[in-house]
Amino acid sequence: MRIPPRLDPACRVAPPTKRHLVLLNPFYPKDPHASFGKHVLTPSLALTSIAGATPSNWTVTYHDENLLQGAPPIDPFPELVGITVHLTFAKRAYALSRWYRERGARVVLGGLHVTSCPDEAAAHADAIVVGEGVQVWPDVIADFELGSLRARYRGDFSNPYREDPPPDRSILPRRSFLTTTSLIATRGCHNRCGFCYLATEGMHMPYRKLDPEQVVEQWLRDDQPYGVFTDNNLGSDPVYLRQLCRAIRPLERIWSAAISLDTTDDEGLVREMALSGCTGVFVGFESLDDRNIAASGKRSPLAEDYARRVHVLQDHGIQVNASFVLGFDHDRPDVFDRTIEWIERTRLECATFHILTPYPGTPLFRQLEAEGRILHEDWDLYDTAHVVFRPKHMTPEELAEGYARCYERLFSHASIWKRRPADVRAVPAYLAMSYLYKRANPLWHVLIRHRLVSAAWQPIVEMTRRRHVAYRRRLAKRAPAEAQRVHPGVGPAADPWSVLM
Ligand code: SF4
Repeated sequence: MRIPPRLDPACRVAPPTKRHLVLLNPFYPKDPHASFGKHVLTPSLALTSIAGATPSNWTVTYHDENLLQGAPPIDPFPELVGITVHLTFAKRAYALSRWYRERGARVVLGGLHVTSCPDEAAAHADAIVVGEGVQVWPDVIADFELGSLRARYRGDFSNPYREDPPPDRSILPRRSFLTTTSLIATRGCHNRCGFCYLATEGMHMPYRKLDPEQVVEQWLRDDQPYGVFTDNNLGSDPVYLRQLCRAIRPLERIWSAAISLDTTDDEGLVREMALSGCTGVFVGFESLDDRNIAASGKRSPLAEDYARRVHVLQDHGIQVNASFVLGFDHDRPDVFDRTIEWIERTRLECATFHILTPYPGTPLFRQLEAEGRILHEDWDLYDTAHVVFRPKHMTPEELAEGYARCYERLFSHASIWKRRPADVRAVPAYLAMSYLYKRANPLWHVLIRHRLVSAAWQPIVEMTRRRHVAYRRRLAKRAPAEAQRVHPGVGPAADPWSVLM
């Protein structure tokens, strides 16, 4: 999980096959402090969206190096290769590009890092796509077929999202993921946090959404019981979220999503989420210090109200995976213990930690650069698991050690036990899942390599779905006010798998 597949310099290939495209997701080393399982929950939509915009007279091969299936595909050898590039695997993407180009393929690079550092990426490709790739991909293909591929294409996020072709999930290896139904209902976010990639200079991603019926159609076509919304913030527009919940409720499936905490302003909306099958949410709490939140430009409820809001979600059978960023300017060495103690007190079944990372092009990067606090620009280490800047009130080493300690404590026997669900009936399942997800990294390697990820999860997914369908029937009979009075653990909030988002 730490070493990429070898790119054989002596590898010989057949001549490129006409109209054959390989879409590649490059390898990145996994953080040994976190669960390896989180990398195979659901695929990103970057490549399936490009596949959906590819003309039907082309054949497409999908290859994700993180699924541990060995060297990149060469049989048939492609005419064209599309590689998605993120900051942390930019170097690997460039190595793959060179390897394919040396053998006669043409390579197009796209993705977030290409948008924020286009000149760097352009030096490693035949063409780059800056901004929204789906819009311009048909032009890329048409120009390639005419032998006039341009060096740079620019998609500007201006067209209605609902007019994009749907992602083509048929190219995905279904056995390699917990679910292949990753969905994006909305693009963009109404917030503009200084550390978020959405604040990257030149990004200008307006808030756009699919019709709820389009989301339903995509989900039905992929036919999986569990959907994961990978939207930046599915709760950004509460009116839309309510419409979406009503559209997906009849499916009797389960789902999870990232939302901002202000979604809990409206408990009626939380109820709608539960009734439509929401079993878990990923929430960026970022910090328990309001000064850090204010400095990052995020609009968020006060930290003293976090626990109450967590309980609003838990009371509706929705588990919370809380995400924290460590290393803000108001963080001192006690931030690690304070954060983990709060997580245990609030009985959060799952949490995620990130070291504050200034992505290039963001306001945070500019601020730290102006203050002379950027330690280096080795993008491989900009993965939120390494310290790449000088923190204000601790040393880089203290921040790195504190981050590792947070995960060690979260995954410890004592902490897993402390955070067990209030409903004793759910404790055995919670323990089983906690140990599989959080303390079984060597096993993940085997499951991924032998394409057993889906097989390992499916019985639990179906059990959870059935249990949740029964729960939501009971919830539907309760008056909304009554639903708000129940206590954590009463609903299937204790279903531990739903936190694995
Ligand atoms: S709320 Fe989340 S998605 Fe929105 S700008 Fe902030 S960090 Fe980015």
